[in-house]
Amino acid sequence: MVIQGIDSDSIVYLNGEYVRADEAKISVFDRGFIFGDGVYEVVPAYNRKPFRLTEHLQRLERSLQSIKLATGKTTQFWADLMQEMINRAKTDDSFIYLQITRGVAKREHIFPVPPVAPTIFCSSGPFIRPTAEQRERGIRVISGPDERWLHCDIKSVSLLGNVLARQVAAERGVDEVIQFRNDFLTEGSLSNMWVVKDGTLLAPIKNHLILEGIRYGLLATLAERAGVPFEARNITRAEVFAADEILVTSATKEVLPVLELDGAPVGNGQPGPIYRKIRAEYDKEISRL
Ligand code: PMP
Repeated sequence: MVIQGIDSDSIVYLNGEYVRADEAKISVFDRGFIFGDGVYEVVPAYNRKPFRLTEHLQRLERSLQSIKLATGKTTQFWADLMQEMINRAKTDDSFIYLQITRGVAKREHIFPVPPVAPTIFCSSGPFIRPTAEQRERGIRVISGPDERWLHCDIKSVSLLGNVLARQVAAERGVDEVIQFRNDFLTEGSLSNMWVVKDGTLLAPIKNHLILEGIRYGLLATLAERAGVPFEARNITRAEVFAADEILVTSATKEVLPVLELDGAPVGNGQPGPIYRKIRAEYDKEISRL
C-alpha cells in the first residue's frame, strides 16, 4: 500500500513488533482513532543520539498521568525503544514519533473495564535541520484566536484545534500562527513563541493554556548562559506587536526568528541580537551531545 508522504519500507514499531511502515495496521476500534484518546512525543536525534531525552520522557509520563493511562511500561522501556528506532532510522539526524493510545475496545466514552493493552506506535523520519539560509530568513506568521481546549499542557493526539490553526496559516502562505486567548499570547499551532523587549526574553507562563515545549526550560537555561534576562509572565497582544524580536521554538525548528507578523516586519525585520545569542547557545548544546 502506498501511503502519501510515507517511506513505505521504513520500519515502525507497533505493539512489540518492528514492521514495514506500509504493513503496520491497527484496529478501527482503536480509541486513538475513535476518540483521539492518546498522547504522543516527538524526539529529535542528532548523529543517532536523542536530544533532551530525559525531559521528553518526563513530559510523556506527565501526559500519560493527565489522561489516566497506565501503560505498565517503565521509563527504561521508552528510552530503549527510542534508541532502537534511532539506530534503525535511515538518517543520522532523525525524529522519533511515539504515540500511545488507550487501546482497542467497543466504542464507549468511559475507559474500558478491565483496562485493555494500550496501542504503542513508534516511527522515525529524517530530521532536516534549519539551514543557515532559513536561520537568516526566519519565519513568517499571522496572528489568530486560540480556539483550542483548556488542556493544551497535555501532549494529546487530539490536535484538531492545532490542525485547523496551522491550516489557516498555510492557506495564507505563512509558516505559523501566533495564537491569543483573551488577548494574551499563548503559543503557535506546533511551537512555542517568545518575545524580546528591551533585551529581556519573555515567555508566557507555563500553565494549562500552553504545551511546555522541551525547549521552554532549555531556552531559560540558554538565556542565563548568554547573560540574557528571562521572565515568564502574561504577555499581551500589544506587547507582541511592539516586540523588538519574536522567537519560535520546537523540536523541528530548534530556535528561529519570527521576522514577519501579519504582513509587517517584526523589529527591523532582521534576526536580532538576542536571537543570535540564544541560537549560538543552542548550537553549543547540540554539539555537547
Ligand atoms: N506547542 C505545541 C502546541 C506543539 O505542538 C509543540 C511541538 N511539539 C511545541 C509547543 C513545542 O514543543 P517542543 O519544543 O517539545 O517541540
